[in-house]
Amino acid sequence: MSDVLSKQQRSYCMSRIRDKNTKPELIFRKALWANSLRYRLKNKLPGRPDMVFPGRRLAVFVDGCFWHECPEHFQMPKANRAFWEEKLLKTKVRDKEVNSMLKQKGWIVLRFWEHEIKTDLSGCVDEVSQVFHEAESRPNRTDS
Ligand SMILES: [Zn+2]
Repeated sequence: MSDVLSKQQRSYCMSRIRDKNTKPELIFRKALWANSLRYRLKNKLPGRPDMVFPGRRLAVFVDGCFWHECPEHFQMPKANRAFWEEKLLKTKVRDKEVNSMLKQKGWIVLRFWEHEIKTDLSGCVDEVSQVFHEAESRPNRTDS
């Protein structure tokens, strides 16, 4: 009874579960830019938001449906289940920490699912735009 080995060589298409610079994020960036929403990418904030608007203290994340367990599309991989459960739980905990750290620093946090970018790009852009402009009209505070 050998030969049970290579049965679990279910190769997972890595491009489906990559996180950074994924297509939806690029599409989103392009649309924001086209709507005069000038984000920055580089930042050293907790969780490294995908885009930031430093003048408005607005941080935007595009959350992958797999990594962040989107309620509509997430499916737990059948292989290596324990590994994934642990890894994904860490992501979940980390997301919460990041949100609260950013809020403590006075940042507004917006998170979008990658599928929202695909299915409702203009809705996502509108949301950023709205928050951006509301943030602008807030009374100035001295930063610390
Ligand atoms: Zn999704």
